[in-house]
Amino acid sequence: MLSKGSKLYAIFNARCPRCQEGSLFKNKNPYGAAGMKMHEECSHCGESFKREPGFYFGAAYVSYGLTVALWVAVFVALTCFDWWGLITFSFFEDSLTFFLSGLITLVLALPVLYRLSRSIWIAMFVKYEGPEAEKKTSLQRPE
Ligand SMILES: [Zn+2]
Repeated sequence: MLSKGSKLYAIFNARCPRCQEGSLFKNKNPYGAAGMKMHEECSHCGESFKREPGFYFGAAYVSYGLTVALWVAVFVALTCFDWWGLITFSFFEDSLTFFLSGLITLVLALPVLYRLSRSIWIAMFVKYEGPEAEKKTSLQRPE
C-alpha cells in the first residue's frame, strides 16, 4: 500500500507526486525550523510545486476534512479509553474536557496537518511518472 508508485507513498513521505524522489518540504521534521516551507520545484524532476498562484488555497478543504477527523478521533479516544482513571468522560457533562483535549491535540498536530493537506492536494493533480520522469525545463513549465 505504501510502496513506491502509490499516491499514499508520496502523501505520507511528503514526496514529489510525479517522481516520488524529491522532497516537497525544505525540512523533514514538521516541527523543525522551516518545517512548513516548501521547495519551489522538485530537485529530481523539476516539477513545479507552486503550479499556479493560490494553488494551495484548495488544501484548506483537505485540512478541514483532516481536522474533523482529528476531532472525531479525540472524541473516540476520550469515550473508549480509561486514561488511567484520570479522565472520566461523558460528553454532556464534560464538554469542556472534550473542547480542551481537541484544542490541545489540534494545536500539537497543526504542522503535521498543514504538510499532509498540501501533500494530499498536490497528489490529487499530479500523475506519477516514475523516478525516470524527464526533467522539466522552464520552457515546459506554465508560469
Ligand atoms: Zn519530482
